[in-house]
This record gives sequence, structure tokens and C-alpha cells, in this order.
Amino acid sequence: MPADFDTIVNLSKRRGFVFQSSEIYGGLRSAYDYGPLGVELLRNVKDQWWRSMVRMRDDVVGIDSAILQSPEVWAASGHLDSFSDPLVECRECNSRHRLDKLDDVDTCPTCGNSGTFTEPKEFNLMFKTHMGPVESDDNAVYLRPETAQGIFINFENVRRTARMKLPFGIAQIGKSFRNEITPGQFVFRTREFEQMEMEYFCRPDDADAVFAEWVDIRRQWYLDLGMTPQNLRLRQHDPDELAHYAADTYDVEYLFPWGWDELEGIANRTDFDLKAHIARSGEDLTYFDQEADERFVPYVIEPAGGATRTTFAFLIDAYTDEEVNGEQRTVLRLDPRLAPVKVAVLPLSKKPDLVETTDTVASLLRERWQIEVDVTQSIGRRYRRQDEIGTPLCVTIDFDTLDDHQVTVRDRDTMAQDRIPIDNLVAYLAERLPA
Ligand code: ATP
Repeated sequence: MPADFDTIVNLSKRRGFVFQSSEIYGGLRSAYDYGPLGVELLRNVKDQWWRSMVRMRDDVVGIDSAILQSPEVWAASGHLDSFSDPLVECRECNSRHRLDKLDDVDTCPTCGNSGTFTEPKEFNLMFKTHMGPVESDDNAVYLRPETAQGIFINFENVRRTARMKLPFGIAQIGKSFRNEITPGQFVFRTREFEQMEMEYFCRPDDADAVFAEWVDIRRQWYLDLGMTPQNLRLRQHDPDELAHYAADTYDVEYLFPWGWDELEGIANRTDFDLKAHIARSGEDLTYFDQEADERFVPYVIEPAGGATRTTFAFLIDAYTDEEVNGEQRTVLRLDPRLAPVKVAVLPLSKKPDLVETTDTVASLLRERWQIEVDVTQSIGRRYRRQDEIGTPLCVTIDFDTLDDHQVTVRDRDTMAQDRIPIDNLVAYLAERLPA
């Protein structure tokens, strides 16, 4: 079973993974700040995504498009008209809910009354603001609600400049904003969040096969990073659930403490978006296939995941409480590639000789990894602190180190200890800490 929700939230706050936004002013609901450990974990999740989706592939390139885009983009994509959720309000307690997420569409989950909802109203989720000093309808702009459109509008720029041939993908990681009706479950659903999206363009007749391939690749990515297989599943959308642009969609779902919920959607978006932008902009976004001597609008397969939501899922999945030699310990069994701190350097005492050697070892390791030096408290407690934040390896410097130039390396999961010459330390650690 996944870890208890409150335990994860408490750990996040206590150890500096995630803080409530604007906490000293009472907190801004549904926005969060990532602390020293959270920012490393989130960055590692994004790096792993970028590595597998862009760096390791010769058919995918990246971009970083602006958050503010022409309102025409959102008119063409359909977001201005239909990026909305059905909102109902309870006449009894005035709470607001998203109708499509209610277990019972007649009963208010806040006060328990039945038949008290107003008629559903479509509520547009885009944040609106104004560009320039004057607030008027003429200069309205929107914070992007997804990173995908920034890719579609750059399709031709990227194809031309990077000389890409079908099939090829364009990937992007970045912030998105949605004025969610019911944000909640900590960083699972927030109004400002980060997405990791890739649009993979292909020939229309290849789309079904390419779609199946990406569903498989994306599921495997979570498993390769150590997510518990029993907590991960694929769910195909029912036809009446499909977005207006999608011919087929699979969600990768995680078994959160409150049940199965979405981590990522993989959709066959057909040629909907490129056609919509061709129609509205008048630009030619077709593709000419030289070999087939054919011009057409490519289909697109989109794996769209949430960086912040996925980070939360990895945190939940890694959390383990266990008993060792009659003592309780908390361990984050994060894959070393995701762990915020890779190596902790722990001198047995604060004596100057040991501190000097600690400094030497620390600067050696800092060149390659995110490390933490901890000189406080007993060594046992320091190990527990590192276990709790998922540090895969601890390097202990003791009095023997001064004579034999060896250190003790302790493994987080097995707690086994190895004595390693300082000269071999980087090679030893590198073997256990893959990129
Ligand atoms: P939901 O049904 O949960 O509202 P969605 O199907 O609208 O999500 P997509 O538009 O497919 O979501 O976005 C892709 C991914 O972006 C989601 O799978 C999720 O991981 C992430 N995401 C979407 N909305 C949010 C949010 N409000 N907070 C955090 N992450 C989000």
C-alpha cells in the first residue's frame, strides 16, 4: 500500500521538500514552493525525463517556449471556447465542486446534502491578464494552460532549423497554469504546476503503431526509475471521455493514497492542432515527404505528464517505514538518479584533523554529485536523517582514516558497510550512482 498521505505531507514540510506558498502571510491556496531537497528531487525527475525523451534519442529535440502567447493560439486550439470544467455550487453550504470529479453528482461532499447543487456552469480554467499598462479586452493575454501549444506553433521553425524528418518529436518542460475549481491533495492538483510534454509528429497511417509504442515507452519510464509495478497501471479512455482533439488516449495512473489517479496522458491528437493553426494563422504547416512525393498534415502522438505531480508520486512510492534491530527507521527508497542528495559525508567527530580530511573528501565529491556534509549529532542519528531523505550512500570519516586513508561507505538500503581507499572512492561511488 502507498504511504499515508499526511505522513508524506509532514515529511515534505519538515525536511524541506515542499512549503506552502506565501506561508508567512497565511498561505496562498494551491501554490507551493519547493525547498532545498524538493527542488533537487523535482530537477532530477525533469532531468531523467529530458535524458530519456531528448538526449538519448536522435529523433526528438527540445524547445522552451514563452508562457505568454498570442491569444490567437488559444482561440485556434479551442482553449478559449472549451477549456472548461463543469462547476456546481451547493446552495446549502456554498462550496464549489467539479461535477465530473464527484462520486455522486447529487450529493455535496462538503455538507452531505442532496439535491442542493446549482445547474452546472462551464468555467474556463485559463488565467487571464493584460499585456502593457492598460487593462482592456484588446490586450488580454493568458498564462498558458499547457506547454503543448508552444510546440505546435513552432512546428515549422523547428522542422526547418533542426532539419527534422518525420517521424520526429519536439519536447518541452515548463510551467502551466490552470484556475482549477477544486485544487487539492497537496501538490497533486495545483493552479501553478510544471508539465513535461512531447509532441511526436508522424505520418497519419503510422499513428496507431506509433501511439502503441509511446504508451509502452512511457509506462516503462516510471518502472525503470523504480516505481512499484503494482502501483502503476494503464487505463484507456472510454470514447465519451476522450478530449475533443483525441482519437485515443491512455492514462498512466498511480495508486495514490486516495486511489488510482492520473500521472500522465498519452494521446493520439490526430492532425487537429496543426490543422487548427493552419486555418487560423494562414501559415503553411504541412509537411512534404520527399521520398513519397507527398504533402500532408502530420498526425501527432503526445505523452503529457506532470513534473510536480510525478515528483509527488515518486516521493510517496519511495516512502518506507521499517524496523531494523528493534528500531524504527524511515527510508526513502528513491532510485539514486532521483535522490536529492547522492552522498552524505559524515566525520565521526568535529576534531580539526577529521574536519580537514572531510573537507578534502567533500570537495572531491562535490565536483560530481550533490552532496551534504553533516557534522552534528551521533553517527546513528545522522544515518537516519540521510535515510529519511533518501541519500543512497554515506561516507564516514573516522580516526583510522587519518592513518589508512580509507573511509566507510554505508548503503542506504542494505545498510552494509564497505571500507574503501579514498583514492578509489570516486570510482566506487560512480559505479553505484548512474547518471
Ligand atoms: P486532470 O484530468 O487531472 O485535470 P488532465 O487530463 O486535464 O488532468 P492534461 O491536460 O492531460 O491533464 O495534462 C497532462 C498532465 O499534466 C497530467 O497528467 C498531470 O500530470 C499534469 N497536470 C494537469 N493538471 C495539473 C494540475 N492542476 N496540477 C498538477 N499537475 C497537473
